[in-house]
Amino acid sequence: MVRKTIKKLPRPHKVLLSSALSFLVVLMLFPSDQVSASKGTANDLIVGQYYPLDLPLDRFPHTEHEAEVDGIEWKTYVVRSGDNLAKIFDRAGLSPQDVYAVSHAGKAAKRLLKMMPGDELDILIDEDQQFKSLSYYYSSTETLNISADDNGKLVTSINQKQIESRLNYVNGTVENSFWNAGKKSGMSDQQIMSLANIFGWDIDFALELRAGDHFNVIYEDNFIDGEFVGEGNIVAAEFVNQGEVFTAIRYDDGNYYTPEGRSLRKSFLRAPVNFKYISSKFNPNRFHPIQKRYKPHNGIDYRANKGTPVVAAGDGKVIKSSYNRFNGHYVFIQHGEKYVTKYLHFTKRAVKVGAKVKQGQVIGYVGATGMAEAPHLHYEFLVNGVHRNPRTVKLPKAQPIDSNKKQQFLQVAEQYLAQLENNKRIMLAMN
Ligand SMILES: [Zn+2]
Repeated sequence: MVRKTIKKLPRPHKVLLSSALSFLVVLMLFPSDQVSASKGTANDLIVGQYYPLDLPLDRFPHTEHEAEVDGIEWKTYVVRSGDNLAKIFDRAGLSPQDVYAVSHAGKAAKRLLKMMPGDELDILIDEDQQFKSLSYYYSSTETLNISADDNGKLVTSINQKQIESRLNYVNGTVENSFWNAGKKSGMSDQQIMSLANIFGWDIDFALELRAGDHFNVIYEDNFIDGEFVGEGNIVAAEFVNQGEVFTAIRYDDGNYYTPEGRSLRKSFLRAPVNFKYISSKFNPNRFHPIQKRYKPHNGIDYRANKGTPVVAAGDGKVIKSSYNRFNGHYVFIQHGEKYVTKYLHFTKRAVKVGAKVKQGQVIGYVGATGMAEAPHLHYEFLVNGVHRNPRTVKLPKAQPIDSNKKQQFLQVAEQYLAQLENNKRIMLAMN
């Protein structure tokens, strides 16, 4: 129920309203006895005379113009910084009781507590200054509607627009950096990052890319009412890295699988730093100069700016988080029984000994502490205590897709593979 704080005025009183306002003017212009002489009962009203009305004047609409507006109309309110429903309702001329009633009009109304600056609300108030209806457009597809029915009871609903996804594709070849190649092909920043994340367990985007690597991506474009509203998911992708082909197919569980149905998600990320922090251009020579120089000491070095976040390559437990004059600030992580990863020269560590860490969790920040000339991450990968090259070492096989989903997945995968092939043919034809 909306509590009605304003005494409901039937429509005809509107006419009297302006008379009442005029009466005040008359009071000011004429001596009071003249005015009081004209007072009378409804039976002896005189045409052309002004009569006082027993109405709460402070409840009248703010301007005469508003009072004369015939019918009712929606008004749009834009949420300002620091706004809440109470402030907006106040601007709309509604009462705290209305705020209470509307914000308690069912579970969906809780949305109104999370309004963001720039959001828009449409509010409908009837000619008697009663709350009638509210529409809050909280996302591009969803609107919260709260309306008072004829009895004043509030009815809440959410209006959901249908998103229509159409497939689109993009492909490109790496010349000097993956980022540049992605941009040149027309991918958004978000898509470039997504693609690197999809293949982040197989490919070290920071150090392993070479000129000539290429990618081929099918993704969704989303439309509402025929209008483009943004990119959706990458649904299939192929990345050829140094001649090796990696393929990812998205299944409706939101995960990516190889065309045979093995998850791309693995125990270890190929690189514990995001490629976007590594210098945007790489040396097109076959051997990375830094990699070559640092090879003798059993690790891989990622040159990056001081402060670049470094993440745990896999789930595990921190077995060392300390400082010495060789390693600087360093962190060692134990993964299961066989594997240990080591991270050296941090400017700052973000985890303590004994902490459980998740794959991708930030454990420290690139620095040049200890025996390091320039800021870089020195990364080591050990299997049963022996240093191994994380790029070539045999790692546990990834999980296969649920057996009950496999047949359906394989059908989806087959379609996408055909489309990837088709895209390649189109690309060749255009060149
Ligand atoms: Zn090193």
